[in-house]
Amino acid sequence: MIQIKTPHEIGLMRASGLVTAGAIAAVKAAVRPGVSTGELDAIAEDHIRSAGAVPNFLGYHGFTGTICASINDEVVHGIPNPDRVLAEGDNISIDCGAILQGWHSDSAVTVTVGSASAEDAGLLEVTERSMWAGLAKAIAGGRLTDISHAVEESITANERRYGIVDHYGGHGIGTEMHQDPHVLNYGRAGRGPKLVPGLVLAIEPMVTIGDPATVELDDGWTVVTKDGSRAAHFEHSVAITPEGPWVLTAEDGGVAGLAPFGVTARH
Ligand code: MG
Ligand code: MG
Repeated sequence: MIQIKTPHEIGLMRASGLVTAGAIAAVKAAVRPGVSTGELDAIAEDHIRSAGAVPNFLGYHGFTGTICASINDEVVHGIPNPDRVLAEGDNISIDCGAILQGWHSDSAVTVTVGSASAEDAGLLEVTERSMWAGLAKAIAGGRLTDISHAVEESITANERRYGIVDHYGGHGIGTEMHQDPHVLNYGRAGRGPKLVPGLVLAIEPMVTIGDPATVELDDGWTVVTKDGSRAAHFEHSVAITPEGPWVLTAEDGGVAGLAPFGVTARH
């Protein structure tokens, strides 16, 4: 069932989104060689709890972290660990979410520790741009797969071939973290549910340097590429409003990220 939010509820989701945005910014600022993913997790949890919110990943089907910390060939769902220490040149995806007044937010970013190789810089840029291409289609009057198609097209438009991870994808979000509909990161445009004001979606492309096939590790969580190639993951929660997309987990509401697509964000 798709949950349609009132403007008031979207305002509450924006407050939740800003908590998550702040947590991710705090973690990003702490990323450096020698820091452990356990330390990064504590930074995110402190930020969320200080804001009067609750981490939504912690305890989710038994997950033990506030963030998912996925390094290099890990695509998503890496478990924070005080013994897992970042090194120069690692890529780390930080996925984080919060519940404030009962409303969820969910966002992710991938960063390189220190300086990035040209290949890694390209991977991160392509993945982030594809997320914004999808967010730019979060427009009332469109259809769900307009978003999926825009994500895919943005990735396949590159001269270099990248893998688009299957199975995992975006989702509705509201009074639960994962709601209908599932948002594929590929597909033909013009299909699926109509995009209407009050629909809130998390859009989250996962892209690989090599083959996109993945496997889950024995820890029951960490998803890695089968071929060991590096992956990147970006995510924002976006509300469809009569005034345009409102990127709830972006500090500026998505103004800067959507501008290159000629889309004006509500903010
Ligand atoms: Mg997430
Ligand atoms: Mg998500």
